[in-house]
Amino acid sequence: MTQRTLIIVKPDGMQRHLAGELISRFEKKGFKLAAAKFMQITEQLARKHYHIHEGKPFFEGVVKYISSSPSFVMVWEAEGVIEMSRKMMGATFGYEAQPGTIRGDYSCSRGYNLIHGSDSEQSAEYEIGLYFSPDEIVSYDFADSDWLYGKND
Ligand code: UDP
Ligand code: MG
Repeated sequence: MTQRTLIIVKPDGMQRHLAGELISRFEKKGFKLAAAKFMQITEQLARKHYHIHEGKPFFEGVVKYISSSPSFVMVWEAEGVIEMSRKMMGATFGYEAQPGTIRGDYSCSRGYNLIHGSDSEQSAEYEIGLYFSPDEIVSYDFADSDWLYGKND
């Protein structure tokens, strides 16, 4: 079953000129882009996005961070995309993330970690709904989908 996830190049990713590099990792992996929006996330939207962290010591900080400057918000699609993209992002804190992951390669910060990715089907559905209306999500086929997603069974 194909799956969708919300990926955000956060303000530090944009300010550090890394958007193309981060997006190309998902593109080269074979994920399909289904929606994209360049925007400055409002404080109100940031609070909704991170509502599960409300009350935690870093909540106000992460709301301020993600709404501080523009972000690139995307929906990517593939079978198993949520787990794969979380692995590609690496651990939450840049200084703990494995080399080879996005955060491991480009961040050594705690909170400024370049990228957001939904962590479950439930959060993906909620987060995609916060940023996109259904008519902004595009369905199409890749001409080389057999080469990208081929199976031997
Ligand atoms: N964060 C932070 N300090 C913390 C934990 C999280 O600044 O101690 C920020 C960080 O930007 C992180 C976001 O809050 O990406 C959401 O935290 P979560 O635990 O959901 O991490 P993620 O799912 O992004 O890996
Ligand atoms: Mg999270």
